[in-house]
Amino acid sequence: MIPSPTELEPCPAGCGALVLMTMTEHGRRMPVDAEPHPDGNQAVYRDGTGRWRSRSLSGRDARPPEHLESTYKPHVAACPRRVVQQAIPGLPAPRPRPRRRAPVRRYTTWKTR
Ligand SMILES: [Zn+2]
Repeated sequence: MIPSPTELEPCPAGCGALVLMTMTEHGRRMPVDAEPHPDGNQAVYRDGTGRWRSRSLSGRDARPPEHLESTYKPHVAACPRRVVQQAIPGLPAPRPRPRRRAPVRRYTTWKTR
């Protein structure tokens, strides 16, 4: 199932992309990319009230996508301005910026004989 252009909204992180805002099984808002993707790990469908829902396909006992569901990628996977630092499967976890250490001062004697 593909959302109509009027159902898309701008990325909440402000990267300028249009995203589809879905509600997860846990009641959290999850923006996904506007277009379905065969490698997506979210099964997205529209429920009886017209609301877009998503459920993760990566869980151990997740059902495979059903015929009314399309697979989408979470927008945070591609968003260049993601604000929520979240581990993305396949990518190393974001590391805190290393603190610069104070340079070690060594007293050297220059060219002594
Ligand atoms: Zn974005």
